[in-house]
Amino acid sequence: MNFKSIIEAIRMHYGNKPFIPLHEPRFSAREREYVMDAIDSTFVSSVGEYVNRFEKLVAEAAGTKYAVAIVNGTSALHLSLILAGVQRNDLVISQSLTFIATCNAISYIGAEPVFLDVDEDSLGLSPKSLLNWLDHHAEVRTDAVGEKNCYHIKSGRKIAALVPMHTFGLPCRIDELNEICKLYQIPLVEDAAESIGSSYKGQPTGSFGLMGAFSFNGNKTITCGGGGAIVTNDEELARRGKHLSTQAKVPHAWEFKHDEVAYNYRMPNLNAAMACAQLEVLSDFVENKRQTAEMYSNLFEHVDGAKWIREIDGAKSNYWLNAIVFEEPTDRDLFLKESNEVGVMTRPVWELMHHLPMFKHCMHGSLENSEYLMQRVVNLPSSVRG
Ligand SMILES: *Cc1c(COP(=O)(O)O)cnc(C)c1O
Repeated sequence: MNFKSIIEAIRMHYGNKPFIPLHEPRFSAREREYVMDAIDSTFVSSVGEYVNRFEKLVAEAAGTKYAVAIVNGTSALHLSLILAGVQRNDLVISQSLTFIATCNAISYIGAEPVFLDVDEDSLGLSPKSLLNWLDHHAEVRTDAVGEKNCYHIKSGRKIAALVPMHTFGLPCRIDELNEICKLYQIPLVEDAAESIGSSYKGQPTGSFGLMGAFSFNGNKTITCGGGGAIVTNDEELARRGKHLSTQAKVPHAWEFKHDEVAYNYRMPNLNAAMACAQLEVLSDFVENKRQTAEMYSNLFEHVDGAKWIREIDGAKSNYWLNAIVFEEPTDRDLFLKESNEVGVMTRPVWELMHHLPMFKHCMHGSLENSEYLMQRVVNLPSSVRG
C-alpha cells in the first residue's frame, strides 16, 4: 500500500498547508459579533438571551420539543442519566468502543457500565448483541405500584438505562435499539455528543430515546469553546433538567430557596452567543464535511488493505471524523507514524473502556468487533474547509 500518495491527497484537499489538524474549528465574523454583543449586554453568565436562543436552535437541529443548555457534554450526559432515573449501584448498558466521557458520566452516579459490542459497519451499539445479552441476562419485573423495570437476573441489579453512542457522527441502528428498549422497559439516552446534524431514516440523532446529549467542545463539528445540551420531547424532563442544572433553585425574585441537592451545570451566555453563530451554519458545515467524506470515499475506493467507513443504509452522517479500517494492525501503526511525521494528523480510535483500570471489572458481552476495530481504525483530518 502506498501511504505517501494517500497522505499527499489529504494535504492537497486541505490546501497544502504544512500542518493539517484532525479537526479545527471554523469561525466567521458572526461569532465575534454575538460574543461582543453578549459582553456589551453585561449578561455574560448563565442568564441571557443567547442561552434562550441557543436552546431554541438546538431543539430545532435535533427535531425535539425542548433543549436545555448545559456547560459541557459530559455534564449533559450525567444529568440525562439522573433524569432517566439512574441510581447508585444500577447498571447502564453502553459500548466499550466509546470516548471515556460516556462511562465517566455513568460512574459519577455510582452506577456501573455494562459493555456490549458494536456493529462493524456503524461502529455503534449492535442491536443483535443487545437483544442477545438481554435475552440471556435480563428480565422485566413489575413492582408494587405497577411500574415495570428491567433487572439483571444474576445480580438483581436494575438495568436503568441504555446509552448508545453515534461514533464519529455515524448514526447507529438507533430505531432497532429503541424497539429493544421498549420491549425491556429500559430508558434510552443517546450519547449524541459527536453527531449533531446526523440523522437516521430522516430523524435527527439525539431525538430517538427519552433524551439525547450533545457536546460543543472545541474538537466537535460545531463549538462554543465548551458546551453541551440535553434534548427531549418530554416537558417535565426538560423543566427538571433546567432546575437540576441551576442548583435546584426555586424561581423567586430575591429569596434563596433550593429544594434538592443539584448542580451548577448551566452554560454561560458568552458561550451560548458563540454557539448560536455556529448553529446558524450547521447545515452548511455538514454539507461541507460530506464533500470531504466523498473525497475520502473516492480516495480509498482503490486502496488495498484499508477501507473507508461509510454511513449505513438510511443514515446521514455529519462525518465529524472520517475513519478508515485497516486489514492489518501493523499497517495501521505504520500509517499513523508516516502521516503524523509529515504533519498530517491522524489518530487511532480510543482504548476500549473495558481495558481501562477503572472499568476492567465491569460486566460485558462478547466484544469481538470492538477488539477488531480498536486495533485497526484510524481517524483522518475532517475539518470544515474554508
Ligand atoms: C466529546 C464527547 C463527550 C463529552 O463532551 P464534552 O463536551 O467534551 O464534555 C461525550 N461523549 C462522547 C462520545 C464525546 O465524543
